[in-house]
Amino acid sequence: MGMLDGKVAFITGGARGQGRAHAVTCAREGADVIITDVLDQLPSVAYKLADQADLDETVRQVQAHGRRAVAVRADVRSSPELDAAVAAGIAEFGGIDILIANAGIWTLGSFWELPDEQWEEMIAVNLTGVWKSARAVAPHMIERRAGSIVVIASVNGLEAGQYTAHYVAAKHGVIGLMKNIALELAPYGIRCNAISPGAIKTPMTSHQGALDMFAGHPGGTEDDMTQAGHHYTLLKGTSFLDPQVIADAALYLNSDLAAAVTGVTLPVDAGHLTLSGYNPVSTG
Ligand code: NAD
Repeated sequence: MGMLDGKVAFITGGARGQGRAHAVTCAREGADVIITDVLDQLPSVAYKLADQADLDETVRQVQAHGRRAVAVRADVRSSPELDAAVAAGIAEFGGIDILIANAGIWTLGSFWELPDEQWEEMIAVNLTGVWKSARAVAPHMIERRAGSIVVIASVNGLEAGQYTAHYVAAKHGVIGLMKNIALELAPYGIRCNAISPGAIKTPMTSHQGALDMFAGHPGGTEDDMTQAGHHYTLLKGTSFLDPQVIADAALYLNSDLAAAVTGVTLPVDAGHLTLSGYNPVSTG
């Protein structure tokens, strides 16, 4: 018996990273999945986004659990593409029970130096993309009077972060959006919750530019990343976390175990938000 037996999950940004962990975990627990991803490069993003080979590998891992997968290229900035992916999923599986709005990008810059294009691309993907994804599945869920939506925010949805005003604004927005979705869909028996991941080891955080940032110099290594991560978490022995910890949290929120849980934000951050904090700029 799986925790999601007979369910269908729609996942954005599902080709790799946390999205792949969500897809494979849903499949392991008995759900069929619709996996979407942009499969393209965005101008403001310095690291490589997912490609067709990534998407194919996620499909392979889903099928290895004996579940079915529909893989569709869909940019969360495009309602027509999301609508087409929703229609393809419903045509194949007959319905959608779960949305995991996971797609996102991470770019850096002081707020006063960000070009308009970089700010707007961040908001378009990380905030408006979550709204468009939820809007694409909501009428179908309302019709069925059932459903669960999990949106992926960040600890940066609850606190500031260096050089990430645009990311922080988008993720705070995601948490507000989640509360309103929960409010407006509750009369139809549909739940909506957010997860706020801490530092997670995915291609978003482990590309060379990020490793150099964690190291504080060019030529950063995974060991530098691990050392930096130890300062970001509270729990003994933790650093950058495996994407599976986020997939496990989403599994709980999308399962019947969380039948009375809606409108909440669940940090999964090895205690990061409980740290007392450190001012990187001395007030001396
Ligand atoms: P990732 O880069 O491995 O995965 C993100 C996926 O989203 C990629 O497959 C990418 O191709 C896809 N994507 C990007 N723009 C898209 C668009 N416009 N339309 C559709 N798909 C798009 O990174 P990840 O860590 O797995 O990120 C997943 C989510 O977790 C993101 O929302 C991110 O902001 C959030 N998050 C990550 C961390 C972390 O430390 N990695 C921490 C907190 C929150």
